[in-house]
This record gives sequence, C-alpha cells and structure tokens, in this order.
Amino acid sequence: MCRHTHHRNPIFCIVPPYVLDEIVQKGSAKQRSAAMQTKSVDNTFRALRLANQAARRATGHPAPTPTPTPGPMKARTVYTANHSQTLPGDVARAEGQSATGDQATDEAYDGLGATFDFFAEKFERNSIDDSGMALIATVHFGQDYNNAFWNSEQMVFGDGDGEIFNRFTISLDIIGHELAHGVTEDESQLQYFNQSGALNESMSDVFGSLIKQFAGKQTANDANWLIGDGLLARGIQGVALRSMKDPGSAFDDPLLGKDPQPKHMQDFVNTFSDNGGVHINSGIPNHAFYLIATRIGGYAWDKAGRIWYDALRDSRVRPNTGFQRFARITHDVAARQFGVGSTEHQAVADGWAEVGIAV
Ligand SMILES: [Zn+2]
Repeated sequence: MCRHTHHRNPIFCIVPPYVLDEIVQKGSAKQRSAAMQTKSVDNTFRALRLANQAARRATGHPAPTPTPTPGPMKARTVYTANHSQTLPGDVARAEGQSATGDQATDEAYDGLGATFDFFAEKFERNSIDDSGMALIATVHFGQDYNNAFWNSEQMVFGDGDGEIFNRFTISLDIIGHELAHGVTEDESQLQYFNQSGALNESMSDVFGSLIKQFAGKQTANDANWLIGDGLLARGIQGVALRSMKDPGSAFDDPLLGKDPQPKHMQDFVNTFSDNGGVHINSGIPNHAFYLIATRIGGYAWDKAGRIWYDALRDSRVRPNTGFQRFARITHDVAARQFGVGSTEHQAVADGWAEVGIAV
C-alpha cells in the first residue's frame, strides 16, 4: 500500500493511508482493529512480495510470466480467498464460465472484462501489458478487509467491513483504477513518489473513470467523475473516495475526516506521508483532465482520453516526470493529433491553466 514509505515495488491500494489513519484515530474498537489489520496486511504483503522476488533471483528461477494469448482475447480468472489471506486462493470463475451468483466474484469478472474491452477497443491494447496478459483477481480476501490493491501480478479485493466500506468490487472505476496501474507501470515507470507518483495515481483515476464512462456510454458532461462511488457504507458522509470534478469534496465525515485533495497548484500539499501526497496532489491533474474533457465535449475517451494515453506512452515521460512536464507533453500530443490552434489543442492549454499550470 499504502503504509510503506519506499517508492520501489509499491503495492497500489485504492484506500489512501490518510483515510485508514483517521479510522485508527477515531473509529470504534472494531473499526480501529479492522483498519490496523488492513494496514498490517498491506505491509505483510509487500514484505512477502519482496521476499519472493529475492528468492527468485537467488534460485535463478524467472518470475512467472502471464500466458500470452493470440490476438486481443480475454483470459480472466477470479479466485476466492475464502476470507483467508492466501493468494490467489481457489478458482471461483474462469474465462467463459457463466455467472456464479456470488456478487463479488461476478463483479470482479465483469470489471476485468470491461477494462480489457476498453483498452482493446479504444486503444488497440492487448491487455495490461499489451501482450495478452492474463487477468487475475482474488475476492473475499481477509476478514472485513477495507481495501483493494494491485500487486503487479493480480488484483485483490476485500469485502469491506460494511460499516465504513462496502465490498470493493462495487465500483467499476476502482477495478479500472487498479488495472491502469499495471498499464502505467508497463508504459512509463512513473515513480510512485511526490509529483510523478501523484501523476501515476491520476493516470489510474483518469482511466478508471473512462472505463466506467465507456461501459455506461456516458458523455463527459453526463459522467459523475467520482472515483469509488458506492464504496462508502450507508451513514458515512460522502459520495466517493475522490472527485475529479471537484477535488476536495468527495467526503467530509466525523470518522474519515475531510477529503484532502487540492484542485489548484496554489493549494499543492507538501508532505512526506502518502508517499509524498500521491493520493492528495493527484487532485490537480485529475481536475485538469476533467476540465479538458468537458471543454472538448462528447465522449471523454475519444479525444481527451486519447491525448492522455498517447502522452503516457510518449518517450519524453521519465520516471520523475512532474505535472508541468506532463502538461507540455499532452499539449504537444494534442497539436500532433488535432492540429496547432485546434479546439482540442486550446482546450488542453486552458484546462491546465485553470489548475495553475502554464504549458
Ligand atoms: Zn492507485
């Protein structure tokens, strides 16, 4: 997650550490213990993964590689951990099998499919690594586990405790967000730290939201631009984990605190926590994308999404690329795709300017 302070080999969790910290401070005994358990599981996982990598290096065994499939063909497997913390667990639904009736299993299966279809149909991309990587998810992970994460090999979903969070498969943009970390990792290696880390987080919010919009056939103006709507349990004061339309407004709750995201460079948060504010300052590029997509209009994936995808793949994106450099790349890409002085080219400049970044 989440709780580690290193930026190499991160485990990408959907619930940011500052939310778990609030719960540890203010929650009931049960909530505090669940939040602490979530945090310790996240740390254990990271330690396990590093140990596995070291063992593979030591024995000379290569890391298991995903099975390539010819052409863009989905290869999904959803496992259940049966409330244990063993990965991947037992197969619950494999590619082509019909619905199981277990909500988390079927939502994970459909969400993996929607993400695959989006990248295949809109960006001619063959899975996360563009080489047909099999999509693997584990549901029912742990007891009351309040998080979902991507560990560079698979997705993992907790059921939530039902008091603060619902099941983590509930929101398609969460599934899209986590898998998009795999795409970003494959294309750019943006370091998960400070501005490059916030950009990495923002990429996942952008594509997570686009995947949800694509599945719902929503235009930029119809979309709600929320990340994780439906995730907060009844009684929690908030609508989602984050809002791209209005960063800082997603929740304001006695237990969770207030959504800390800025939407303008003048409110940029300098912090050592959250890997240097990766889930906080991502509000700024998130909002720029929202402004640009709604200025251009229509389906956000057609133009703004295309610009972002090509910018992410641009060789000028380095591991330490920050907001300004990325903004300039999107502006260049827009000129190449739509022409200098085009509506799209201008919209990119205007959207970034509105969050305090001049291209
Ligand atoms: Zn993330």
